[in-house]
Amino acid sequence: MRTTVGIIGAGPAGLLLARLLHNAGIDSVVLESRDRDYVEQRQRAGILEQGTADVLRAAGAGERMEREGLRHDGIELRFAKKRHRVDFPALTGGRSVTVYAQTEVCKDLIALQLKEGGPLLFEAEALAVEGAEGEAGDGPRVRFRHGGVEDVLECEYVVGCDGFWGVARQAIPEEVTRVFERTYPFGWLGVLADVPPSHDELVYARHDRGFALLSMRSPAVSRLYLQVPEGTDAGEWSDDEIWDELERRFETGDEWTLERGPITQKSVTPMRSYVHEPMRHGRLFLAGDAAHIVPPTGAKGLNLAVGDVVTFARALTYEKETGSAELLDAYSATCLRRVWQAERFSYDMTTLLHRAPDATPFEDRMQLARLERIASSRAAETDLAEGYTGFPFG
Ligand SMILES: Cc1cc2nc3c(=O)[nH]c(=O)nc-3n(C[C@H](O)[C@H](O)[C@H](O)COP(=O)(O)OP(=O)(O)OC[C@H]3O[C@@H](n4cnc5c(N)ncnc54)[C@H](O)[C@@H]3O)c2cc1C
Repeated sequence: MRTTVGIIGAGPAGLLLARLLHNAGIDSVVLESRDRDYVEQRQRAGILEQGTADVLRAAGAGERMEREGLRHDGIELRFAKKRHRVDFPALTGGRSVTVYAQTEVCKDLIALQLKEGGPLLFEAEALAVEGAEGEAGDGPRVRFRHGGVEDVLECEYVVGCDGFWGVARQAIPEEVTRVFERTYPFGWLGVLADVPPSHDELVYARHDRGFALLSMRSPAVSRLYLQVPEGTDAGEWSDDEIWDELERRFETGDEWTLERGPITQKSVTPMRSYVHEPMRHGRLFLAGDAAHIVPPTGAKGLNLAVGDVVTFARALTYEKETGSAELLDAYSATCLRRVWQAERFSYDMTTLLHRAPDATPFEDRMQLARLERIASSRAAETDLAEGYTGFPFG
């Protein structure tokens, strides 16, 4: 098999890249190790920055998002039983976010790709990327296994969109790699519940017992999270214990109540900050979680993946139109500027709202002082609103 761009992974990064390239008249092949059902059902992100929603619309993939996505103009911060709303449009010149689940983004992009785009092979596992440093015509190649048979995909470029546990990153030699990493001594217990959300915007709660987040997938389905110790097994928590703990952490001084309903899914997500530099080696490019991970507190993971593939598609289109590799050469530096801003924002949100197991009374007071500052200073609040609604793409 031969193509211009070999894409490993059909998560949001790989699927959107295939769509952007198709729209630019550049052919690609997508290899995905899992089956279609798995990719379409995997519960993950749900907040689209303004720029992400704009890109999906421009790519012709925003029709259902327009109909079913929920535009949110703010979030609520909850601490010391107080509530403070951050009004995004008022602070950012009209920007907002859209609540539309990653599962739905993937379903829309898969349907478009199968209808109009190039090959998208499910249950096709990439085994290795070879020849990334070769000249055009002499690599790179992706060795993969599909239907029990090993095959080779010859490409002009390979983009590793294969997530944190993928194989693409392994093709970059250690001597040219720098890795920046931080793990956190807690994770998120996430549940899906068949109950309308108890608030019409996301609620981020800082509590002495730990962080909690009220979010939603639709007007009828709530998505809720609790900070839990690192290594917690979701099965350790009964449904009643989860609702009791959520109630405690969301407690306010007013009449607000948390509606309970049947919990349909439970899982624990570990928290990690991770950046792989550079994001390019020869003709191999990394995009999305293959190159960087953020803790989910800032809702940035999916949005960073979108920023990377927009940057790549733009750079390759420029090369095809002008013969200049200038933008491709700048890919890693361009992406990393945005990645580090998102890493900073996600780290700030995480340390602002979570309670470390060894937190001292001084650190508790510092968190409350930072939250009070956001609630009382337009400058501090604007900084949060700008970060949350998203940094500009490249
Ligand atoms: C449990 C969980 C919860 C999350 N919650 C949030 C959230 O609330 N908010 C948020 O913003 N972000 C969240 N994220 C992060 C967000 O989902 C990711 O940042 C986003 O999915 C990145 O997209 P991606 O396409 O780069 O990678 P992925 O979505 O990981 O896609 C990679 C794809 O590559 C495939 N693949 C892997 N190896 C191979 C191979 N060898 N060959 C072929 N295919 C391969 C995988 O099967 C997968 O389909 C969460 C992540 C996890 C794990």
